Amino acid sequence: MFKTENPQSVVKKSYFRAIFNQDFNLGFGNPRTDVCSKCIELDGKIKMENDQVKKKDLMIEKRVHRLRAKAFFKLLQEKSDDMITFSFDCQKNNPLPKVPDQSAYYSRQIYLYNFTIVQGSSKNEFPKTSNQIASAVYDRLNKTNFEGINTVRLVADGCGGQNKNSILLCMLSRWLLDNTSLKKIEVVFPITGHFFMPPDRVFGNIEKVLKKQEVIIRPEDYIDIIATNATITKMRDI
Ligand SMILES: [Zn+2]
Repeated sequence: MFKTENPQSVVKKSYFRAIFNQDFNLGFGNPRTDVCSKCIELDGKIKMENDQVKKKDLMIEKRVHRLRAKAFFKLLQEKSDDMITFSFDCQKNNPLPKVPDQSAYYSRQIYLYNFTIVQGSSKNEFPKTSNQIASAVYDRLNKTNFEGINTVRLVADGCGGQNKNSILLCMLSRWLLDNTSLKKIEVVFPITGHFFMPPDRVFGNIEKVLKKQEVIIRPEDYIDIIATNATITKMRDI
């Protein structure tokens, strides 16, 4: 950093550094956006609480919260020969057209929805809303070989409109009627703030490519990019 310093400079970088360090207690760091809001809330309360008993209660609450998050990851990673785990989630909406035009940003746009289901390391892609999600999961289940499997575990974030609803549960009950060899279906919803699921890894790879594309006009352009990371299944009603 100091090598690029201009020797002609009247004021050296060290001068500013000294002011920053001695006169202000300033530090620089990357802003984090993935911190859990419950953790932030509890940390704040613990810091402000003067009553030692209440402080201890808050610390216990935080510990329980973190243990629950840990328990979720354990469930997600659990492997067994007679169990299949699917995790699914929606990618953030992909605007169409994607153009670097200010007025487009403030206009209502069409979105391309990408809903991803991951089984082990394989992937599948679909679009969204509770009905469509239930259909997409149903389709994926029907395409899976459950020979020798007793348990199906589904992991999804607990978003009521999309995943945590009676439509999904009714669909699963209906599907189970046709697949009586299965003994158990588990649906796992992680606690808010602490989940990183396999679909997030797929979205990360897709978004890395999308970031570099300033202009995207056709839905096919999105689909081609998604296809390099997953198997595409298009839903008919959109
Ligand atoms: Zn948390």
